[in-house]
Amino acid sequence: MQFRTRAIHVGHHADPHTGAVVPPIHLASTFVQPGAGEWGPYNYARSGNPTRNAVEEVVASLEGCGPGTDHPEGGALAFASGMAAIHGVTSSLKAGDHVLAGSDLYGGAYRLFHKVMNRAGVEVSLADATDLTAFEKGFRPNTRLVWVESPGNPRMSIVDLAAVAELAHKHGALAACDNTFATPVLTRPLELGLDIVMHSATKYYGGHSDLMGGLLAARDKAVYEDLKFIQNATGGIMDPLSCFLCSRGVKTLELRVREQCRSAQRLAEWLDQHPAIGRVLYAGLPAHPGHAIAKRQMQGGFGAMITFELSAGFEAGKRLCKATRLFQLAVSLGAVESLIEQPASMSHASYDAADRAKHGITDGMIRLSVGLEAYDDLQADLEQAIAAATR
Ligand code: PLP
Repeated sequence: MQFRTRAIHVGHHADPHTGAVVPPIHLASTFVQPGAGEWGPYNYARSGNPTRNAVEEVVASLEGCGPGTDHPEGGALAFASGMAAIHGVTSSLKAGDHVLAGSDLYGGAYRLFHKVMNRAGVEVSLADATDLTAFEKGFRPNTRLVWVESPGNPRMSIVDLAAVAELAHKHGALAACDNTFATPVLTRPLELGLDIVMHSATKYYGGHSDLMGGLLAARDKAVYEDLKFIQNATGGIMDPLSCFLCSRGVKTLELRVREQCRSAQRLAEWLDQHPAIGRVLYAGLPAHPGHAIAKRQMQGGFGAMITFELSAGFEAGKRLCKATRLFQLAVSLGAVESLIEQPASMSHASYDAADRAKHGITDGMIRLSVGLEAYDDLQADLEQAIAAATR
């Protein structure tokens, strides 16, 4: 079955008791067992629940692991948030291990790596994963995990994922990718040889800004089993209502992402020609340094996130964020409504200022999440806001 069909049917079982086409949301925290020491399919909801299983099944299928895929012994896990999912991966490390992360990195991941994992004795360093020679120099004898984003947040840099996976394996490390921006509609890292893919389900998977969730999908049995063990041991599970909402969001994931990509491509091209706009960072523009890799690696679109700079600079950027009417000023992304934000003061404020500068996150950057509103309305909104901000 094709992606769009699986998104609707995998994990979606009509209720056997009532025939309800939409399965009920299971809120029970515990389940009756057949006998003392005998276990039914579910025992305690932290370890598993039918509503969570449903979303994990469909996510596994879309990411390319679990039953019916090329990696049948892997699987997916649903966490309480994207950060809980990343923490699940980093919890598999031990004191003395090293993480090599790409330098175009979500602020929350930066904070977890530098201000929490260091307390557990895990070392982290950042290197530019778009330059494979420089990136390889970042490996140490104790590197156990490589962590990249593609497109990266907020610079929209594109990483050659297959090449990064090869490097990681050559150096004895697992390769993991935060695929939140690309979604499995455009890029499926497990098919490119990576071991773990992570999503903030709060974004495109949910798609409606009404749930918090995180997802991991692992290719191999041992990695999947370890992450599952960690999830149960640490307890950061996605709650049943969020699981239900996420399963519902998944059904339209491909349609939403394809349409959002179309609008984003047009907006990026329009911004790129706009006299008041400086740089536009979007892999769908031929001048973007990662365009050729993205064309190969992303199927049928370049994502719906755009970063740009106003020629007039930081204060004009702040005014722009206040002047849009349809683009709402908020962090987060990936939902039906369009959002605007300023990474330096919002999504990436948890970086040290010096590290922001070092890794090319300028104060003047503005980030757009392009939603599902009519294209003409979005362009008109930006046009009036740019005029108001640069008057
Ligand atoms: N990864 C990326 C690329 C993100 O943009 C975010 C949140 O903005 C996260 C991870 C963290 O996800 P959550 O907010 O669901 O914890």
